[in-house]
Amino acid sequence: MPHHNDPIAALTPEVTAWRHHIHANPELGFQERATAAFVAAKLREFGLEVHEGLGGTGVVGLLRAGTGPRAIGLRAELDALPITEKTGLPYASRRPGVMHACGHDGHTAMLLGAAKLLAQAPDFDGTVVFIFQPAEEFVGGGIRMIGDGLFERFPVEAVYAVHNWPGLDFGTIATRPGPMMAAVDNFELRFRGAGAHAAMPHLGDDPVLAAGAFIGAVQRVVSRSVDPQSALVVSITQIHAGTTGNIVPNEAWLQGTCRFLDPAFSDHCERQIATIAQGIAAAHGVTAELDYRKGYPPVVNTEGPVAEALRAAEEAVGAAQVRTDLAPSLGCEDFAYMIRAVGGAYAWIGAGPAGPGEGLHGDRYAFNDAIIPIVLRYWTSLVRQVAGRQPVSRCLP
Ligand SMILES: [Zn+2]
Ligand SMILES: [Zn+2]
Repeated sequence: MPHHNDPIAALTPEVTAWRHHIHANPELGFQERATAAFVAAKLREFGLEVHEGLGGTGVVGLLRAGTGPRAIGLRAELDALPITEKTGLPYASRRPGVMHACGHDGHTAMLLGAAKLLAQAPDFDGTVVFIFQPAEEFVGGGIRMIGDGLFERFPVEAVYAVHNWPGLDFGTIATRPGPMMAAVDNFELRFRGAGAHAAMPHLGDDPVLAAGAFIGAVQRVVSRSVDPQSALVVSITQIHAGTTGNIVPNEAWLQGTCRFLDPAFSDHCERQIATIAQGIAAAHGVTAELDYRKGYPPVVNTEGPVAEALRAAEEAVGAAQVRTDLAPSLGCEDFAYMIRAVGGAYAWIGAGPAGPGEGLHGDRYAFNDAIIPIVLRYWTSLVRQVAGRQPVSRCLP
């Protein structure tokens, strides 16, 4: 068999089986107890030093080789989504309403595979910190791990992560310096004033009228307050006011979201939205109360780690399949906090075509197992290249 010379090909069926096991048993953010226990048991079996309970259900595995001072972090996510799976696959979710529809099962299995390969053949000099984070999708498990001292306890010079990317050509690896994924902020806004009979509106203030004016005016933030070449989305996503047909209500409530790539836009949007809301409120004789919540910052790749990632990608798939020209996504990603803390590189792995409902977060999404050997090659090349390089030798007197 051709396998005995290629440890990656030999291990791929086992990694695929781990992936299917995790897929069949999905858990939502901060509830990934069985998944975390599975990961910890595997890491111990491979001989890694294991730390559990970081940021809730997060797991860290340490693999040291030689005496080198270099250390890098590799991250995968443990959590699934509140979606009912409709793939009909033999290993489909056994939990109604919970599904690994973002491929975090694959990311976790592949990172375990890399740990096993590197533990079997530790031909590098330094430390690899394998980071399995909870709750990527909604609540920021990554920032909780950082808050629990992730990088003080396990210092690294950079962190790396991959995400499978349906719709990107199969086997392509895409990364670039600068923004890869957007920031997301959310806000709620309440206009309050006196209600009135709908036939006698002059006896009240009409917060609904104020809300209507605000919905149009707030697009000024996008169209007139930032450079048109920069990415910014402001969307109003919910409006609630009133109870019946003949009363002008005393309150109108709106919810909205801002997405952007430039971290400075967070404060800018908050100030602009507050100013517009107050101005509209003053003009309508009502009050405005803004609750603006900063969410995930953008994922901004840093240059040194991107250069390392590109070299590993070329080794994994060949230069022709490596891309640096893709526009960033306006989706968001909790990895932003880790990359902001220590620098790093986030890369997309092309998973091939995806039809309607088969993309990320779709109920017929299916992780493409054919990318497993590619990612195993990427991770092991990256570690050997970063931690395998000797630091510049000092000239001793
Ligand atoms: Zn997702
Ligand atoms: Zn994801």
